[in-house]
Amino acid sequence: MTDIRTVGVLGAGTMGNGIAHVFARSGFAVRLCEVEQRFLDRGLSTIRKNLSREAEKSKITAADADAAFARIHGTLDRAALADCDFLVEAATERFEIKRDLFQDIDRIARPGVILATNTSSISITRLAAQTSRPGRVIGMHFFNPVPVMQLVEVIRGLATSQETFDTVHALAQNLGKTPVEVNDAPGFVSNRVLMPLLNEAMYAVMEGVATPEAVDQVFKLGMAHPMGPLTLADFIGLDVCLDIMRVLHDGLGDPKYRPCPLLIRMVDAGWLGRKSGRGFYMYDQKQ
Ligand code: NAD
Repeated sequence: MTDIRTVGVLGAGTMGNGIAHVFARSGFAVRLCEVEQRFLDRGLSTIRKNLSREAEKSKITAADADAAFARIHGTLDRAALADCDFLVEAATERFEIKRDLFQDIDRIARPGVILATNTSSISITRLAAQTSRPGRVIGMHFFNPVPVMQLVEVIRGLATSQETFDTVHALAQNLGKTPVEVNDAPGFVSNRVLMPLLNEAMYAVMEGVATPEAVDQVFKLGMAHPMGPLTLADFIGLDVCLDIMRVLHDGLGDPKYRPCPLLIRMVDAGWLGRKSGRGFYMYDQKQ
């Protein structure tokens, strides 16, 4: 652990900028790597804004926020990751993108450097097999928003070594997170259990058992969930929910994971939830 000082983060989107944020806040030097300047700029400005907000809420001092931001260096050049002691990938959730990325960072990173992925659904074992160091590949699954959420699923691929697991487990703790050990399987634990709940809530709406509002009320008031399953599905994005249901259905082969037909129809219509202005609920933006 003590030998990890510089961390490379690939992808500065929703998750990547949060991951860079928490590493920098914990004192690591961060190289944040993107494919286009505008995505890098957007990621860096989000980090700056979120660090300032933490300072306004007195969670950190203004000086610590400035120091954390100064520890992050954006780059479009993957070769700049060669001096990193640890790499975590948070690029777009497409196997081909991650496959190419893992083949490439395996060539760039020093031997022995751990390559972690924040994937929500792609097999860690399969990504590890793209590299010459499968024992040093692991899942490090953060939750959105990364600076706030406590959990990190630490996912062992088939070949992941105990040393790699122990290092990443300790690293997550070092970030102030709580790591939970999980083995590589479709959806890991979080999405394996959450997504069928959301999917079933959609079946209840489709079959006219209750309105979206009523389903959400049941979970908020009866189960003390902070938001109901349909509000949550809108927040996550209905396209993302559908992709994950398909991963579960394909990967586990059990009809109980069949995506709800209403979900498929809504995604076909472009009703993707909050981000498109319409999902199970209507939202102000982009109507
Ligand atoms: P996003 O679309 O917000 O960001 C992905 C970023 O990756 C984009 O900015 C894109 O330009 C960049 N990118 C694409 N190819 C790249 C490459 N070769 N090198 C560097 N950057 C590249 O996506 P996101 O929501 O941040 O998801 C990223 C990863 O995190 C995915 O694997 C996703 O499954 C996982 N994840 C997402 C969430 C979530 O709630 N959004 C939660 C946990 C895990």
